[in-house]
This record gives sequence, C-alpha cells and structure tokens, in this order.
Amino acid sequence: MSTLVASRRKVRIFKVTRGWEHAGYTGGVEDGVILVDGRRIGGTYWCGNPDVSQNRQWASYGPAGYLYGDRGFPTRKAAEQAQVREYATNPDLYDRLNDQADAERAAEQAERERRYDEECERREAARRRARLGDDEPGPTIWTAPAFHHLYAPFDETVAVAEWLAAHDLEGDVSGVHPIRVEQRAGRQVIVFEEPTPTAQLAAAMGQPSTHEARMRAVETRVVTLTAAPPPVTVPNRPDLVAVFAVHFPTKFPLIDYGFTVACGHCTKEAGSRTSVVAWRCTPVTTAIDSKE
Ligand SMILES: [Zn+2]
Repeated sequence: MSTLVASRRKVRIFKVTRGWEHAGYTGGVEDGVILVDGRRIGGTYWCGNPDVSQNRQWASYGPAGYLYGDRGFPTRKAAEQAQVREYATNPDLYDRLNDQADAERAAEQAERERRYDEECERREAARRRARLGDDEPGPTIWTAPAFHHLYAPFDETVAVAEWLAAHDLEGDVSGVHPIRVEQRAGRQVIVFEEPTPTAQLAAAMGQPSTHEARMRAVETRVVTLTAAPPPVTVPNRPDLVAVFAVHFPTKFPLIDYGFTVACGHCTKEAGSRTSVVAWRCTPVTTAIDSKE
C-alpha cells in the first residue's frame, strides 16, 4: 500500500506504507505495521475473536489509540486509515513523539554499549594482571634458551622439565621460546610463553600447525618462583631455529618401532611405512655439533 495523504493543517505530503511485524511474513492475518515516510506510527492485527461482529475483526493502534472490539474494522486497510487520518491532524506532534522515542532508544543503546565496553576493559585488565602480575618487571637472572629441550644434554632437559613440573607448569610452556627468571621487587618470577587457548584447542583437534604459527600463537605468563632453577650449560643457539623449523620430534603411540621418539620430518621423507628415523636424526645432530 502506498498512499499520499495531505495534512489538513498545512500543505504536507507524506507517504504511508505497510510493513510487517515479523520478518518473512507478507500478508494473510499477520501483524502489520503502519509506516509514515518510513517511520512507524502504529500497527494492525487480526482479532480472531468469535464474539466480535464479522465486520469488526481488524484492530489497529497508533495516534488514534487502540481501536478494537466494537471499534474494530472490517478490513486491515480501514484499520490503517483510521490511524493515518488521526496522524494527519497533527503530524508534527506524532513525529516529535517518534523523535523522542528514537532519542531515548539511542541513549539507552549508547549506555548499554558503554557499560559493555567498560566490562570488557575491566575483564581484560584483570586477565592481564593474573597473567603478568601486579608488580613491575625486573632484571633477568636466569634463561633457558629457545628450543633448549631439543638440543641441551638429556639430563639438563629433564632437570628443566622437573623444575617446571614443580611449578605446575607441565605442558603450559612453549618450547620454542626462551624461559626466563626475573628478579622483581618482592619476589622472583618465571616468565614464559604459553600457547593461547585457541592454539591449544586447535592442536587438540589435530589441526596441523606450522613452525611460524607456533612461534606466534602464545601469550606471556608470569608465576612466582618457588624452587631454584637448574643450571643451564648450553648457549643460546639461534642458528638451530631453522633446523627445528623442519625437523621435529614426534611420537608413534600405536606402533612400537623400538624408538620412543622419531623425527617427524625424516620419517616422512624416508617414504617407507616400516622405517622410522629416530630423534635426534642425523641432520639435527650435525647441526647441534656444528660450530655456532
Ligand atoms: Zn630429521
């Protein structure tokens, strides 16, 4: 429906259209909306009341108030027109009411958004405090270099693993980043990179992750140190990063090949279903033994 109606008070042309209360409905006895110049001024609905005379089954609401029952209409169009006629007697008043309602709604929405943003910031700050501690960072007094567990002497990697386990950090610490101990004002802390929850979930779901993705998908965490760290004798070996990006230790849980751990890369490259290349493979051993 598209009607042009002239206001009696002054020359003003406005366009009346019919909308629908619920998306997807376009007719029948569904609830209708009366729009003037695209703004809602009221609506229509089917009474379906058997007590009401057959001629008054349509009701409407809007500037003329609620018109139903004995004041109902035989058709939807008649029910709409009663509201539009009333609107036309003083369009400025009804537009102003609509403006006020819009302004109130916008203000409420802005307030809700402000509260939501505030809550998000508060939670983020609390999470950050829990992750990094309230106190200021201090000087580093101990470091296990990145990939330490892949190239340090076996006893040394076991000692670091046990020390982490003593702090309940088994499985929480990224092996591809350094682990540090920091001296802060009132305590010593272990500072390490922890794979993000999404990265851990993706890994648990069997999603393959690249070396670069593992390097990136971490966040820094800090816990209070309660046991002295074991001595670390090996130097930092950034030259090995490229080697470990290709060669990685992996386990074969279902088949016992006589090896606890194999090199995932070399085993795949070997191209045979029956041969497994043990970790550390020759390329890794060669790289570790080579001059830094
Ligand atoms: Zn290998």
